[in-house]
Formats: sequence, C-alpha cells, structure tokens
Amino acid sequence: MTIVKQKISQITVPTPYAVGDVHIYVMEGERLSIIDAGVKTDEAWAAFVYQLKQIGYEPKDIEQVVLTHHHPDHIGLIEYFPRLEEVVAHPQVDQWLKREPDFLQHYQNFFQALYHQAGVPEQYLRFLKQLRNPLGDVAKGNLTSMILEGDSLPGHEEWEVIATPGHAQSHLSFYREKDGALLGGDHLLEHISPNPLLEPPYQPGEERPKPMLQYRSSLKKLLSYDIEHVYPGHGKTFTNAAHLINRRLESQEKRATKVREIIGEAEMNIFQICACLFPNQYEKQFGLTMSETIGQLDYLEDIKAVKASVDDGVILYQNLEGSHL
Ligand SMILES: [Zn+2]
Repeated sequence: MTIVKQKISQITVPTPYAVGDVHIYVMEGERLSIIDAGVKTDEAWAAFVYQLKQIGYEPKDIEQVVLTHHHPDHIGLIEYFPRLEEVVAHPQVDQWLKREPDFLQHYQNFFQALYHQAGVPEQYLRFLKQLRNPLGDVAKGNLTSMILEGDSLPGHEEWEVIATPGHAQSHLSFYREKDGALLGGDHLLEHISPNPLLEPPYQPGEERPKPMLQYRSSLKKLLSYDIEHVYPGHGKTFTNAAHLINRRLESQEKRATKVREIIGEAEMNIFQICACLFPNQYEKQFGLTMSETIGQLDYLEDIKAVKASVDDGVILYQNLEGSHL
C-alpha cells in the first residue's frame, strides 16, 4: 500500500496591490497541487520558486492548480508552470482566464448601464475605461475541469468544495472534515473585511447578482461547518472562524445603519449615497466604493428598510417609515 502524503504548505508572494502579500498553498496528495497562483509578476514567481525549493519541490513538479476565485492576485502565475496539466476552478473563472472580447464588452455594457441608473455624473464615467483591464497585466489561460459545491478536489478526495460567492461570483472554499481545515481564499480574512464586488450577471440580460446578500449567506453557511483552522488568501492563518463570521456580519449591519442615517428624510441616488459614505475614498476607489454602497442598499432593500423607485432612469432610495434594523 502506498501512503499518500497530505501536507499543505503556505508560500507567500508579494503583489503590487494595496492588499499586500498573497498566499499560495502547496497541497500534496495523488497530485501535487497548488491552491491559487499569486500575481503575474517576476517578483512573485521568484519568491514562489525560492520557497517551493525550501519544501523540496520545483515548478515542474506542480501538476495541478486549483483557484479559489478569478481575481488577478490569485490566478497570476498559471502561465509560468512548465508541466501544468490541470487548472481547476468554478465554471465562472473560465471567462476571466479567456478574457474574450464579447465578455469584456458585456462587462463594460453592464457597468455603463448600472452607473447610469446610479446617477453617476458624466465626468466619473472615465472610470469605465479602466474596467476592461482594471489591474494591469492579468494571466490568461483556460480551465481543464470545473468544480462545484459538493464536489471533492481532484486528486485530494478528502477536500470538499463549498460555494462561497460574494467577494467574487466564482468564489469557492475547500474544507477537510477530519481536521476542520478550511482553505478560505478571500472569503474569510482576519485583518480586513473582503469587499463583495459587483459583477455582471453570468448571462447578459439576467438579473444582476447581489454580492452583499450572497456574502452574508456564504458567511452564515460556514457556521454549520466545524472549522478549526482557516488558511486564508491574505494575512495570518487563524482559528475561531465563527467569532470572526459574527463580527463581519455585525460590522456590515452597522454600516447599513449608517447608510440609513445618510438617507434620512431624503431621496437619494446611489452615487450621492456613495459620496457621503466614503467622502475621502470614492474618487480614488470608485469601483470598490460603489460596489460597497450598492451592496449595503441591496441589503437594506432586502430587509425592507429602504425602498427604491426609478425617476428618469435613475434609481432613488428612501427610508421606509417604521422600519428598523
Ligand atoms: Zn479576491
């Protein structure tokens, strides 16, 4: 009988983004896999190769990459591996790896229409130009197999796939029941609250996803798992996931209360609310702050604390009388 090694090792590589370093996990099993693939820079590759060597492997030993989600700081190095056979992730990651013109156009059209409904003044629409390639040089490729909730990781049967959409539509986490380990990607980070980011619907014409509501239910879903250790995409490995989950839910609810205070007796559009909620950040981080604002409004609408109406194509929000949080 051969005994399959099942160790996971953390490798940390730098990114040029505000989030700082990102982790890559090397997972032994029937295949040698990495979970996530850092950012596409030579610095990240050099740091990866160096640390990989310290645990006794070389890039040509890596057979499979599993991605927690499609963001550029998690997919970057997939083009660098000489003998990569499998790229495994949620089906929606594929469009981000291929970046075909139709998809990019769909993305741009979606935000154009959304920002119009949000009351964004003309001069801010220049941000749309950055949307096509928001973060510079991004890895390209394609998936060789797709995984969904309830599947196990190919080559690592004891790891179960849990769908955790919110931060990204494609976000998956991986859980190992025998020791309560969770590879949580960006869904659960100890030192920062992940942004639920707006994305277009998977198919043009469908209703848009509501990432804040998804994020909340993905957080609550994890409460039913016996999680001992979280191996996150950024920051320290940590325990006591349930405590962190409750903290995240509460701080989101607090920010929603702030949105209700901003609206007060008025009727406001999304752009106006965003500028009041993030007066110092909204110009520099337009996409992020708009995502967050829309997320809070989706939540408030869901709990019937605000109501939306449309005036001349622009959505206006007002507080609902007698509602409470
Ligand atoms: Zn991310």
